[in-house]
Amino acid sequence: MRQHKLALCKDHFLDWVPEQVEHTIRRYHMFTHPDKLLLAVSGGKDSLSLWDILYRLGYVVDGLYIGLGIDGGVRYSDASLEYAQLFAQDRNLNLHVVDIVAEYGESIIELAIRTHRGRYKPCSVCGLTKRHVMNRFARQNKYYAILTGHNLDDEAAILFGNTISWVGSYLLHQAPVLEANRPGLIRKAKPLCRIYEREMAAYALLRGITYIQDECPYATGSTSLYHKAILNKLESDRPGTKLSFYLSFLQAKRNGLFSPSVDQKVESIHTCPECGQPTSAPGRCAFCRMLVPVEEIPEFSQSKGAS
Ligand code: SF4
Repeated sequence: MRQHKLALCKDHFLDWVPEQVEHTIRRYHMFTHPDKLLLAVSGGKDSLSLWDILYRLGYVVDGLYIGLGIDGGVRYSDASLEYAQLFAQDRNLNLHVVDIVAEYGESIIELAIRTHRGRYKPCSVCGLTKRHVMNRFARQNKYYAILTGHNLDDEAAILFGNTISWVGSYLLHQAPVLEANRPGLIRKAKPLCRIYEREMAAYALLRGITYIQDECPYATGSTSLYHKAILNKLESDRPGTKLSFYLSFLQAKRNGLFSPSVDQKVESIHTCPECGQPTSAPGRCAFCRMLVPVEEIPEFSQSKGAS
């Protein structure tokens, strides 16, 4: 690992990765052993490896798989679920499944087409839905925190994109831990945020974890993959660039570079009258507005017709 000026054998590497994750959990005060934790599981290498690491570290973590109804010619959602179930069964872990089609009557793609929010790239609908479902499920079942498998490459690519366009509110919110600072909002943590993607791939391989190798079919050509490719070039020329980019950003935040005044809207607290989830604007939250647009609500159409 040139980025760490470190070379380890298999056994030491398999000890080193959990040590790094434990260090990250403590460094950012993410959670402690008695906390009830929910991990967003996609069936990919990062989320399954994180589950394996937390299990080895003695944390009690349940998994949540969200079935998006994506096929893409590779049975993407069905195959992902099978890997997640296999992993959980082998280790006797608790995996919850929320199926979007069963729950809301439409797959992510159908939702995106019906609401005209991305016929060819349903990613914004997908992201909104996953955030809504994760928070709702964790709230209803009283989890202390939602964990995700974002690794250093993911975080550096997000940071790179937000820096290029200087989106102050996004930079303000990017952190290893997102506090539950509004009623109804569940704490979120990213215990892999300092671990390189290659390190996670090596960990999964050496631990014999089987996971879905296919990317989501809609990830092809995405901006985040493009940014990852640029950062990979920088990393290859100067090992350690991604880590230093991300850690320097966190240090700059601690030094006050991004103050809440960058986006005053973050202080707003409202509750969606439809689903009861927190929302930044008064009225129905973005997810409920997407699910049933205002023009499809009978009272609204009638009053519109009457006027
Ligand atoms: Fe969802 Fe696939 Fe887009 Fe990721 S790439 S946000 S899983 S649709």
